[in-house]
Amino acid sequence: MKKCSKCKQEKELNNFGIDKKQCDGLNKVCKQCRQSFSKEHSKRLYEKNKIWNQNNVDKRKEYLKDWKENNVDKIKEYAKNNVEYSKEYYANNAEKLKNKRKEYYYNNKEATLLTNNTYRNKRKQSDPLYKLSVSLRSMISTTIKKNGYKKLSKTELILGCSFEHLKQYLESNFEQWMSWDNYGLYNGELNYGWDIDHIVPLSSALNENDLLKIVDLELKKVFERVNNIEFDVEVDDTLKKHLILVGTDTRFGARILKRTVQKWVDDAITEKILSDNPEKGSKFILSYNETEKKTDVKIKKQKKRKIK
Ligand SMILES: [Zn+2]
Repeated sequence: MKKCSKCKQEKELNNFGIDKKQCDGLNKVCKQCRQSFSKEHSKRLYEKNKIWNQNNVDKRKEYLKDWKENNVDKIKEYAKNNVEYSKEYYANNAEKLKNKRKEYYYNNKEATLLTNNTYRNKRKQSDPLYKLSVSLRSMISTTIKKNGYKKLSKTELILGCSFEHLKQYLESNFEQWMSWDNYGLYNGELNYGWDIDHIVPLSSALNENDLLKIVDLELKKVFERVNNIEFDVEVDDTLKKHLILVGTDTRFGARILKRTVQKWVDDAITEKILSDNPEKGSKFILSYNETEKKTDVKIKKQKKRKIK
């Protein structure tokens, strides 16, 4: 048994650490006392440092800056070695980090917004791809919200191609006056600025099914126009196939589909309305007439609803 000089308690020898300077080869102070002392000591040190840091913010910044400048390689090496670790850490603490960011955001809302906006505006001016992606993101989410849905997928997924791909596609369709400098400046004036409408790039289509989706999108606009004048439309597969065949050749640019739909769908309906003067509520059923190379329009009268 040995008495601890700190807590003055008699304790078994295995409660004392080794200290070769002492004649019995053991520490004067028991392990428990040493432990609590070192805990308190590091706590005091931490508080001391904290106060020093608070009082010497500029000095500290300067020091850190100097250190970083003098240890670029060291930092790089460290970062390289820690990529895997960081990834793992982020994956395991995703929720925690997210909450931390959220908390910071709410506590520093105005400052954060200002920083973000400044950054965005600056980058938009120098990086057209960034400008494009920002505006598409907001356009797509506005459309989705307007229709009462929530945006769950990434914009690129909805778009069906990467932003880089879309940028190249747009560039390939530039008219002479168009550039990334006058993108987003559309104001109705001729050849002043240009903007993006809700058009899916044809070149993003990889197969006939994709093309069909794009044609359907274009047809939806027709349906809306026709619904507005109180008629209904149905376009059958033969005509859709024909529209894909003549309207989706990307060598002729994106406007070809619009013009094709106008010719084979809009114009056919208009002609039918003029010649047959159908009753409001009638349905036009459109199909492609292979032999006469024209659109056939049949009129289906609205069924009178039976009253119960
Ligand atoms: Zn003790």
